[in-house]
Amino acid sequence: MQGKIGLEEHFAIDDTLHDSKGFLADSTWPELESRLMDMQERRIAEMDRHGMQTMILSLNAPAIQSIPDAKRASDMARRANDFLAREVAKRPSRLQGLAALAMQDPDGAARELVRCVKELGFRGALVNGFSQIGDPNSMVYLDDARYRGFWAECERLDVPFYLHPRNPLPSAAQIYEGHPWLLGPTWAFGQETAVHALRLMASGLFDRHPKLQIILGHLGEGLPYSMWRVDNRNAWTKAPPRYPAKEKLGFYFQRNFHLTTAGNFRTQTLIDAILEVGADRIMFSTDWPFENVDHAAIWFDACSISEADRLKIGRTNAERLFKLA
Ligand code: MN
Repeated sequence: MQGKIGLEEHFAIDDTLHDSKGFLADSTWPELESRLMDMQERRIAEMDRHGMQTMILSLNAPAIQSIPDAKRASDMARRANDFLAREVAKRPSRLQGLAALAMQDPDGAARELVRCVKELGFRGALVNGFSQIGDPNSMVYLDDARYRGFWAECERLDVPFYLHPRNPLPSAAQIYEGHPWLLGPTWAFGQETAVHALRLMASGLFDRHPKLQIILGHLGEGLPYSMWRVDNRNAWTKAPPRYPAKEKLGFYFQRNFHLTTAGNFRTQTLIDAILEVGADRIMFSTDWPFENVDHAAIWFDACSISEADRLKIGRTNAERLFKLA
């Protein structure tokens, strides 16, 4: 398929580059480093080769979210956003941007999102899970009351918010002890991000802001497979759910969430996601440079879905959500 749009596609700046080290074998680092730092050459060539019209770019992880000092985090986010805006301006039909935000300063993050959308022309934000704030051992999730103003601004701007994975801190990762292979994209990313998304759903956030749109990568971090059980366990007890949200969580999953194929190129999993949220809420992505564009595109272009759904997932859903047309 020609004209595909991808929206979980990353780059790094000098200050954040090393956050991406250690996930893969050291022997692959020179290649990953050059992929992360390239904006206009290898990236565009990969897109041209595999029918991608546009990448909507975001900073690597955990980057800003792992800087406990709010001022330093804000300065770095601003620097990364300004860099991205300059790169996007060179090829706006091929590259677009999502804002990096220092959630360590909720009001500052809201202001930076406004600046990125209104002045830099960015299409939304991408945040890497919880933030460390002040204390390096803190993990502040986005359902925290301090983010009420931020979410109101996000809804007012009418831009989507990509909730991207990061690893839990060692203090919260006892279950992985002795099994470091489970960290990162193998398992811990999905687990961490799925729970974070459930916290948002249960918090009442989407009762206060019914128009907010959250994007999850990796075909929903396992949630399509689990949402029915989340809402229907022990149904015989007829016990009301013990959380602030007014509706069953599956209601918000279908109304306030979108999923991308980033890093999860599996037809069986895609079809399950389509059955749970519908083809209107799923979008193609690769997770470049951590995954290959060819692995994503060759799979997607041939996978057994209807051509109408391929067009929606490959392009038109993203055009609509990000107002690209
Ligand atoms: Mn990613």
